[in-house]
Amino acid sequence: MYYNSTRDSACRVTAAQAIARGISAEGGLFVPESLPELSMEKLKSLVGKSYPEKAKAILADFLTDFTEEELARCVDSAYTVQKFDSESIIEIAKVGEQDYLLELWHGPTCAFKDMALQLLPHLLTVSAAKTEPGKEIVVLVATSGDTGKAALEGFQDVPGTRMLVFYPENGVSNMQKRQMTTQEGQNVSVCAIRGNFDDAQTSVKKIFTDPEILAELEKNGQKFSSANSINWGRLVPQIVYYIAAYTELAEQGEIEMGEVVNVAVPTGNFGNILAAYYAKKMGLPVGKLICASNCNRVLADFIRTGTYDRNREFYTTSSPSMDILISSNLERLLYDLSGRDDAVIREWFSALSRDGKYTVSPEVLERLHEELAGGWCDDVQTAETIGELFREYGYLCDTHTAVAVKVCADYRRETGDTRKTIIASTASPFKFTADVLHAVTNREIPADDFEQVALLSEISGMTPPASLVALRTKEVRFTGSVSKEEMADRVREMLR
Ligand SMILES: *Cc1c(COP(=O)(O)O)cnc(C)c1O
Repeated sequence: MYYNSTRDSACRVTAAQAIARGISAEGGLFVPESLPELSMEKLKSLVGKSYPEKAKAILADFLTDFTEEELARCVDSAYTVQKFDSESIIEIAKVGEQDYLLELWHGPTCAFKDMALQLLPHLLTVSAAKTEPGKEIVVLVATSGDTGKAALEGFQDVPGTRMLVFYPENGVSNMQKRQMTTQEGQNVSVCAIRGNFDDAQTSVKKIFTDPEILAELEKNGQKFSSANSINWGRLVPQIVYYIAAYTELAEQGEIEMGEVVNVAVPTGNFGNILAAYYAKKMGLPVGKLICASNCNRVLADFIRTGTYDRNREFYTTSSPSMDILISSNLERLLYDLSGRDDAVIREWFSALSRDGKYTVSPEVLERLHEELAGGWCDDVQTAETIGELFREYGYLCDTHTAVAVKVCADYRRETGDTRKTIIASTASPFKFTADVLHAVTNREIPADDFEQVALLSEISGMTPPASLVALRTKEVRFTGSVSKEEMADRVREMLR
């Protein structure tokens, strides 16, 4: 299997090259030349298998330049009960008659990004060994919170890698800060910067191309790489869990094998829902993909009108991981829907960087509507949804998941489509404790994060994730902060 770039269909690389490079030289994203077929026979053969076994069977069709042994090593290092607090890696909770909440947050950082970031470091080291043997991989990350921690957990003590994470000193929550500054692992470090997320990101981008630093890397036998969400190595692990969930529902007798189900996803950068689209294209019996946004509803508006317009106010919401105005992975969907037309993708995405907007053709919009439905809800509706779900079904969900639950219910009411729906549940409610508490109780909310966790546990009867509780007594390893000008020095120190 080969991969093309969305901005140059003639570009043709292997999976290892796509993963090692991250992004194509002309700025496009790597996509598979064609999707492997998921026949009904193959789908049936997955029923009853463990999550790692399903992952190996599905990933083998995408990563054809990995040996069976290499792939097995990657998957078996990623999805373990040491890292996940569920033996089945994912859990499915039935809520009401038709909704199945696919809990993707049983990994070490309690958010769905672990599903990809536990596997990516292993895919990356194998890919780098194939494309540039002998080099140590150096990963730099600028984070506004969740990605940094998930990447740190993923790369912790992975041989052949080093990682440095920069975060804005005053731009992350207390709990997120604590998660990062207590991170263990000999090969990872964390650095606060005096500035905002954009400062961190801009400086990291500069460091990636700084000739002096690149010369030092060369001398040390090292190579920069990226763990951000446009890397194919972060997307492909996400296809697995939709297929795994479907086969699990069939195994439990909740659905008939072959029955068409909808999938609803709380969406930010469009990675998670794109993985569901790819699963559908492979042959998974999926009807509509329901794309749920918060007040930053650039995607919901796009799906309605065909015009993507980022020139709008940015809102800080109770579902911060979806506070995004540029959904990078949408490019991959549009490439597919336009019949793999790299010229039109170049046109739309240069318009996006020039004018902040583009409009797709009526044909592409029509195809989009066949696959996708969009919707959004605000913070008040998000909180109401958390409250309703808890009171009616005793089920507690986080703010991001609630957006998808609400948009899915709206979709069902508006269309009369009564299919069963897999709703991606993307974070533990204990990760966004204050907002979840406000939604389920009138009691006074303590200021301290750990007291909030204890109160939510008392009210819900749920055991909080051990990894969050443990933070209370964990030693802080990384203190102090640097200016954005000093970031390059920190990188040089780390390289030595
Ligand atoms: C990142 C994230 C999302 C958005 O996922 P995308 O793949 O960027 O669309 C939703 N919920 C949570 C909790 C997240 O961390």
